[in-house]
Order: sequence, then C-alpha cells, then structure tokens
Amino acid sequence: EAKSAGGGAFRLYREDMNERVKARLLQEHQLRLALEKGELVVWYQPRVDIAKQRIVGAEALLRWQHPERGLVPPNEFIPLAEEIGLIEELGTWVLKTACRQNRLWQASGLPPLKVSVNISPHQLAPESSISQAVQDTLRETGLDPKWLELEITESSLMQNVESTLTKLVEIRDAGVSISIDDFGTGYSSLSYLRHLPVDALKIDQSFIRDISASRDNAAIVSATIALAHTMDLKVVAEGVTTEDQVRFLQSHECDEVQGYILSPAVPPDDLSRLLRQGKVLSRPGQVH
Ligand code: C2E
Ligand code: MG
Ligand code: MG
Ligand code: MG
Repeated sequence: EAKSAGGGAFRLYREDMNERVKARLLQEHQLRLALEKGELVVWYQPRVDIAKQRIVGAEALLRWQHPERGLVPPNEFIPLAEEIGLIEELGTWVLKTACRQNRLWQASGLPPLKVSVNISPHQLAPESSISQAVQDTLRETGLDPKWLELEITESSLMQNVESTLTKLVEIRDAGVSISIDDFGTGYSSLSYLRHLPVDALKIDQSFIRDISASRDNAAIVSATIALAHTMDLKVVAEGVTTEDQVRFLQSHECDEVQGYILSPAVPPDDLSRLLRQGKVLSRPGQVH
C-alpha cells in the first residue's frame, strides 16, 4: 500500500520534472531562434542632464517580442541566456544594434547622445573578448567611441579582478566610458572604485524610490553624490518617478536623471520624437 503510493508520487514527480525539462528546452530553443527571427528588439530609455535640462543619453534595454507571450522583459530571459552560453552572442548583438542606432540618430541630424549598453558579468569572464567586440563594433558602425558607454554591475568588478581590470582598461583606452550600474546594491566602496577605470555611477532605484520618506536613503544618496564628485565621477539617478525626487537630486547636484518621470524605454522612433520635441522633465520651472 505505502509502496504503491510512493511509486505513484515518484511517477508524478518524474512527470513533473519531465514537463519542466521539456518547457526549459523549448524556451532555450525559442530564445536561440528569437535572435535569428528578429524577435529581439532594443528599446531606449532617455537620460536627462538636470542642469542643462535636455536629453544627453539613453540606455539600451533588451526586449523579446514573443509571438505568444507578448513583450517579455529582460529579467525573464537574460538569466537563461547566461545559463546556456548565449549571452556573449546576445550581448554583442545588443552592442552592435545600439551603436548602429546611435549612428542613425546622428545621421538624421538629432543632437548627439551617449548610448549605454548593459554588460553581463559573463561577458567579462576571463575567456571572453569583450574589448575586441567593442572595438570591432566601433569600427563596423563608425560610431565615435565618446558616444558609447558600458554599464557594468558592482558584482562583476569583484570577480576575476585582474582580468576584468585589464578588459576595462582596454575599453577605456578605446575611448568608451564605463559606468557602475545599480550602485549601492553590491559591496564595492567608493574608495575601491577610485582605482578603477570608471566614469559614472548609476545610483540604484531602490535608494531613489523613497528618498523623500527615508532619511537614511536621502543621506546615502547625498553622500554618494558628494563623494563621487570628489572623485570626478558623474552621477546618474535611476528610477526617478516624482518631482520631489527631481528637486532633491537637483539640490544635491546629481548630474543626470533616468526614470518614468521622463519616459520608460521606448522604440527607436519614439526616442527620435522625444529628442525632436526637446522633451525634458515635467514642469522644469517648478524644479528648484
Ligand atoms: P538596469 O540596467 O538597472 O535597467 C534599469 C531598469 O529599470 C530597466 O528595466 C528599466 O525599464 C527600469 N526602469 C527605468 N526607470 C524606471 C522607473 O522610473 N521605475 C521603475 N520601476 N523601473 C524603471 P528592464 O528594461 O526591465 O531591465 C531590467 C534589467 O535587465 C536591467 O536593469 C539590466 O540589468 C538587464 N538588461 C536589460 N537589457 C540588457 C542587455 O541588453 N544586456 C544585459 N546583460 N542585461 C540587460
Ligand atoms: Mg543598466
Ligand atoms: Mg540599473
Ligand atoms: Mg538592474
């Protein structure tokens, strides 16, 4: 009796596992095909310079236009791409797409933008050739390197320190900027960053979210901006959604703002429109 019940449970477990393995294999297959079928797209979220009150940059953000699932956000498929060893190819594709797009914007007479591209920690692994990919891309697209920035996370700076540093120096020497994404969520200190070839910090949106309500977060953000400036680092605030946040950031001399208050990530043509309109933060006159 107990034995047969156990057997049944085991069979159920096995069936369940088979289903999950099948679903995963299908997803893996679909993701590989998606790149070939052109279902992957890069959208762009503008960044505004608070002092200049104009769009000076945009972050390239990957999306999957899935025929059945609709628009799939990157957090739902990038981990899979990393797991199955597809992230290098995918990352290089994003890099090329973003540089080509930036050239197109420039060719159409729009004010120049610095486009930033997210780099997975896997792309900085010792055996990877990110700096070569960056240089090839710049040559192929003809983009001036000063209009390209790579966003890397704090945690990728902590892995393979020596080889990562070599890569970053090569990229920097090629004239490309480097920013630290989601700053504050990892363990790197500002004094550690002093020794790294870094140009900008992007303060994670979790610190910005309740900047007005949490005195701790307000203190962290204002101290980070002040210290970063003493080290000649530019500071970008991520996930800005309210005018109160903009006011706070402006009064603490944060350099740039990115967030839904301005725009979410949009397709390339929509960004052109925002640029032509000269879209800035809402009610700039109210911002002190
Ligand atoms: P991230 O690099 O920190 O990008 C910022 C994320 O915050 C984006 O989510 C963006 O849409 C979202 N965001 C921007 N403003 C606001 C706001 O005001 N409120 C809120 N709630 N969210 C805001 P997204 O596009 O879903 O991307 C998530 C993460 O996926 C990115 O975080 C990045 O780590 C990763 N990712 C995106 N594209 C790529 C890529 O091409 N390569 C790699 N390796 N990772 C990517
Ligand atoms: Mg980013
Ligand atoms: Mg971020
Ligand atoms: Mg993030």
